[in-house]
Amino acid sequence: MSEAVSIDPVTGRKKFNTRAAKATDKIVGKGYSIVSDEKLTTLPEPPAGATFNAAEQRRYREFKEARAGAADYMAMEGAFSKYLDDVYSEPPVERDALHDQCEICVIGAGFGALLLWYRLRQAGFEDVRFCEKGGDVGGTWYWNRYPGIACDVESYSYLPLLEEMGYIPTMKFASGFEILEYCQTMAERFNFYERCLFHTTVEQTIWDQDSERWIVKTDRGDSMQARFVVLANGILTTPKLARIAGMETFAGESFHTSRWDYQVDLKDKRVGIIGTGATAVQVVPEIAKVVKELYVFQRTPSSIDVRDQRETTPQEYATWPNEPNWAVKRRERLALISAGRTALQGNDDFLSGKVDHYKARKSYDRELTPEELVQRQLETNFRIMEQIRARVDAIVKDPETAAALKPYYPYGCKRPTFHDEFLPTFNRPNVHLVDTAPLGVRKINRYGIVHDGTEYPLDVLIYATGFEWMGTGSFNMIRGRDGRTLRGKWEAEGTKTFLGIHSKGFPNLFIMNGPQGGGGQFNFTRVSEMHAKYIVWMLETMRSKDARTVDVTTDAEDEYAQHCAEMDLLSAPFRDCISYYNNDGKAKPGSLAYYGGGKRWHDRRMAAQESMAPYFFDGAPA
Ligand code: NAP
Repeated sequence: MSEAVSIDPVTGRKKFNTRAAKATDKIVGKGYSIVSDEKLTTLPEPPAGATFNAAEQRRYREFKEARAGAADYMAMEGAFSKYLDDVYSEPPVERDALHDQCEICVIGAGFGALLLWYRLRQAGFEDVRFCEKGGDVGGTWYWNRYPGIACDVESYSYLPLLEEMGYIPTMKFASGFEILEYCQTMAERFNFYERCLFHTTVEQTIWDQDSERWIVKTDRGDSMQARFVVLANGILTTPKLARIAGMETFAGESFHTSRWDYQVDLKDKRVGIIGTGATAVQVVPEIAKVVKELYVFQRTPSSIDVRDQRETTPQEYATWPNEPNWAVKRRERLALISAGRTALQGNDDFLSGKVDHYKARKSYDRELTPEELVQRQLETNFRIMEQIRARVDAIVKDPETAAALKPYYPYGCKRPTFHDEFLPTFNRPNVHLVDTAPLGVRKINRYGIVHDGTEYPLDVLIYATGFEWMGTGSFNMIRGRDGRTLRGKWEAEGTKTFLGIHSKGFPNLFIMNGPQGGGGQFNFTRVSEMHAKYIVWMLETMRSKDARTVDVTTDAEDEYAQHCAEMDLLSAPFRDCISYYNNDGKAKPGSLAYYGGGKRWHDRRMAAQESMAPYFFDGAPA
């Protein structure tokens, strides 16, 4: 292998060779299963007369109130930091610390960074450096390699740059392994690897007013100066653990799903998994096939919608690329209908442009107020949830287990999940649902989990307990112009950004996919694309103006924060449950995801780009 850092003889710039070797090739389950049983791939009709009446509303309320305050998570620190170890790569490539300059430093090497790099290169920005915690590209798809992993937004609309890459995913919901390989191919094709410092975690990003540069410090001893910093470090990046008494005493093997330890052979073992979110829904059916006994510790059931996995057909391979921009158009069409149930509403005729509309819009005899519209949508939402609940009864044979698997909250309030094998798994004799509602698992001892006076002895314990949501820069202290940290500013004033991308006092810092960042209707690939295009537009604008710094005005930021709060409150009835989306009920309105929808965000972006009023170049705005 050549040196980790060398000089490109043509450009005179540094080139890196820090991609880590793979630690293992062992993977299990590919999320490829295709289920042909129609009972499993269609939703039952809603029960006749189903309506979101007062009794049903009370049931939802009680379901939520019983869980209030139950969520208790902790960071993986101290004795638990072992859960963060990179189990996928060989140890970091040795290299000297860097004390030099670059124009743009990007944190992350996932979809966001790869997309941004593609656009930057097109626009002629070459002096770009990436810092990535993992040993290779992929971000989410680097870290999450559990059995059964697949995307659950259709892959034709989810994978970025399909046309540019001349690629069509092999399945409607591509396996995570296919997506990881796709990221690696993109990185190779775009000469990304030579610009990326792998196994390099940015720990501090500090604005230096004198030089008008960011000082980027890493866990590898680097201290690099950059004119611009882009946070492309994901939305669900930092894994978290449920805080459970006695967890440190467990004597068996244990790990978090985002660091799947394939060295631990699950065959014939007694395995426990805590959590039933989107991850566990994909893991459970796969590991149930190999373990001796599987105990699924559930606090709140997910909504398990139809997945209807299928292979890409020869005809699709042959015809889709004939339509110019087929993938972008498909993604745009999906964005039109993905506010609800992505997997089902992603009707292929509509998505591939064979019909111009999927469903006629409902018309009303008069224009409804936003509140009335919400009420109507809640009724529709209730009927979808009735179908989801009826599906549980239709598939799960044991009535007590079926009852526990039924969710009572609005569809989409927690992340909807899509699977055709999760529910049937509970009919297997070796799979046991342990209903820990409403408070969850509270006790672990050296042998396993203790719940309601029963001890469940385990050989392996798997934490499927999720990630910090929108924890932008949570593992990176970002200190801006007036010495305040980004976290400190947001804790004191609430989340304050313009478009989710700028935050006042943090000049030349761009946030991709962060709080208040809209543009893509919850398809974060689309959001990344929009943010990447916007950032490149800003850099080009500055280049043409010969501007050194950009910041945003207080007015622009305050007005935008208020807009985010209003949009959040308007759609709050759909998130009336305990969910990571609302920080388990504790988030201030408007502080996390953007709920204004794609169009509103774009309208604001375009208005700003036209008037330029929100921006302040070369100096500190009042
Ligand atoms: P998650 O949705 O946050 O799920 C965490 C689970 O842990 C929840 O079921 C939670 O229960 C449970 N839990 C926490 N403490 C507990 C306790 N003490 N006892 C029992 N249960 C406890 O995390 P995730 O499943 O990893 O998914 C996170 C997100 O990643 C997804 O929503 C999705 O956006 C993304 N993801 C995507 C894909 C994909 O595209 N293929 C796959 C996986 C994940 P409560 O619900 O009661 O809090």
